Amino acid sequence: MTDDPDDSDDRGPLVDIAPKRWLCCHCGGTGVDSYGPTCEHCEGLGFC
Ligand SMILES: [Zn+2]
Ligand SMILES: [Zn+2]
Repeated sequence: MTDDPDDSDDRGPLVDIAPKRWLCCHCGGTGVDSYGPTCEHCEGLGFC
């Protein structure tokens, strides 16, 4: 029974973090709006 402290394989439970960013529903992820250079919905990020 070896309790090696270096063999720390437990970094906590793997939490499946859901992506907070989604493709903008306004520009479709391009970040560019047809009205201007920057999508006003995602501020040019392409995600909202
Ligand atoms: Zn959007
Ligand atoms: Zn957008």
